[in-house]
Amino acid sequence: MARIFCVANQKGGVGKTTTCVNLAAALHLAGQRTLLVDLDPQGNATMGSGVDKRALEKSVYHLLVGLATLEEVRVQSESGGYDVLPANRDLAGAEVELVNLDNREKRLREALKGFDAEYDFVLIDCPPSLSMLTLNGLCGAHGVIIPMQCEYYALEGLSDLVNTIKKVHANLNRDLKIIGLLRVMFDPRMTLQQQVSAQLESHFGDKVFRAIVPRNVRLAEAPSHGMPGVVFDRGAKGAQAYMAFANEMIQRIRTL
Ligand code: ADP
Ligand code: MG
Repeated sequence: MARIFCVANQKGGVGKTTTCVNLAAALHLAGQRTLLVDLDPQGNATMGSGVDKRALEKSVYHLLVGLATLEEVRVQSESGGYDVLPANRDLAGAEVELVNLDNREKRLREALKGFDAEYDFVLIDCPPSLSMLTLNGLCGAHGVIIPMQCEYYALEGLSDLVNTIKKVHANLNRDLKIIGLLRVMFDPRMTLQQQVSAQLESHFGDKVFRAIVPRNVRLAEAPSHGMPGVVFDRGAKGAQAYMAFANEMIQRIRTL
């Protein structure tokens, strides 16, 4: 059965897309059948997977509003090896159109039904908001992966997200749970980051993933080559951290 995870945090620039793309590629390298769903109109996960967002005939937009089937939208990431439901700015229109459709929060969930046997992992890259698109991601998932930087204000933003997840759990999706917090862009030389990291561990316990993704320029360079970092430079520290994270995820789903 496919395990479906949302990578969410309503803040922008915290490493959601980098996490989604690299986890997808690392899972593929570990032999897991993986689908990445780009739910952000910016289409960064699409481009970072080496799929040209400007050349799409059909995208996640068409899937959500019922103008295309999953098979019609699905493409393969040549560089990453996993499948992609790509997105571009068309998806911004879905936000408005969905309001008038039945089951508007559950369109993605419906679209993914029937593909359970084809994948081990489905990863959903959410936009930086708690919008209808993010709600579709949360309603379609079994769990949420929250990437965060170990900064002073990181915990503050977290409570809004946690409250949203609680509401979705109560009203729309009883399966949903927080799988874990992933520390990203970590700089061990900064005392503040170490302190926040330790705080996270004492507060959230084993909800904090053991893998820690360091700040690593190779991860930031990879998208301009249309490649996940774990493929672009496998030996880099950032790539190795995402490989370790993928293995941790594979272990975790056994206990879910
Ligand atoms: P989000 O999807 O949350 O907006 P991104 O994954 O796009 O965040 O990351 C924001 C920026 O930070 C991007 O330019 C990305 O390349 C860079 N970045 C992300 N993770 C790392 C990292 N571990 N080391 C260095 N740069 C990173
Ligand atoms: Mg993003």
